[in-house]
Amino acid sequence: MSQQILCLPGDGIGPEIVNETLKVLDTVSQGFSLDIKVSHGLVGGAAIKAEGVPLSDNTLKQAQAADAVLFGAVGGPDWDHLPMEQRPEKGLLQLREGLGLFANLRPAILYPQLAEASSLKPEIVAGLDILIVRELTGGIYFGQPRGIRQLNDGERQGFNTYVYGESEIRRIAKVAFEAAQKRGGRLCSVDKSNVLEVTALWREVVTDMASEYPDVELSHMYVDNAAMQLVRDPRQFDVIVTGNMFGDILSDCAAMLTGSIGMLPSASLNESGKGLYEPVHGSAPDIAGRNRANPLATFLSLAMLLRYSLGEAAAADAIEVAVGHVLDQGLRTPDIASDGCGTVTTAGMGDAVVSALKAK
Ligand code: NAD
Repeated sequence: MSQQILCLPGDGIGPEIVNETLKVLDTVSQGFSLDIKVSHGLVGGAAIKAEGVPLSDNTLKQAQAADAVLFGAVGGPDWDHLPMEQRPEKGLLQLREGLGLFANLRPAILYPQLAEASSLKPEIVAGLDILIVRELTGGIYFGQPRGIRQLNDGERQGFNTYVYGESEIRRIAKVAFEAAQKRGGRLCSVDKSNVLEVTALWREVVTDMASEYPDVELSHMYVDNAAMQLVRDPRQFDVIVTGNMFGDILSDCAAMLTGSIGMLPSASLNESGKGLYEPVHGSAPDIAGRNRANPLATFLSLAMLLRYSLGEAAAADAIEVAVGHVLDQGLRTPDIASDGCGTVTTAGMGDAVVSALKAK
């Protein structure tokens, strides 16, 4: 039976980078005789325009029925005036909730060919290979109550609730321990347990679980120190596990270490291994429609999709090798351009990766 991918390009550069990714998917499907059916849907601003909401019930149902979702990016200035609940970004949050995507895996790998593109010195980042495991459906981004209220003295007060249940902590820590087992065997749990009770519980639960994984060396770090260590000595980390908000911030910081946000894929998984795969960057309205966007993060997201949700590791490997190959050839989109390298368009990069795949 064929496997199903739902493709949701979204807004801004989303359609451009997803288009190129579908070319890559076509090529690996042929090369590896994969039986994959791709369907298409709208999300974010594109869905607001056509369907009045950032994610229709029908699209959510399609996503739930698919084996995996390939997602571009959502948002842009056209919708910034809307109330939070109606904005394009809400579509992504609804997908995460509706699919139960509690685990966000964000690798930060520095391709040796791009060591010069990092904001840090090459000797500090060369060979960087970190995996950040971020809890995605809980914590302060979802905790209730939340809102802005008027106090008796007329002062307005904004408030959110930072909450994690023990079972939520256990399931994300399990993903992280298992990932560490498959990698370098080191897991650093990041919290703020000296100030926040919710993360004191987080530390207690993660520490309790360590005995189930004797082959993983567990350490703990406060989030402020983790931010500092990521820019001071990032190679000390193998796998980092943390909550939703800290993970949001630290994974963007790790992204910059690799030189460009346009290089970083991500996977968001649920308990049955289905997932949503997207580049970590947004819709980049400043370069949308100009054929300048770097599509490599989306190609690498497709590789993660093939590996984690469809069980097609060889096809995933081939995409990753092909990306390395075009970087070796000196091809760069403007965001990763450097002296002596040729600048290519979004479509040009897609064509180059397709050629590299065909040449194998
Ligand atoms: P952004 O990631 O879209 O852009 C930040 C900077 O990185 C911009 O200069 C952009 O040109 C550049 N950039 C991003 N992706 C690139 C790529 N593939 N190739 C080359 N350059 C790239 O972040 P932002 O500007 O803060 O947000 C823009 C919009 O995207 C907002 O509406 C925001 O809400 C939305 N957003 C969506 C997602 C998502 O869909 N998952 C994530 C973050 C932001």
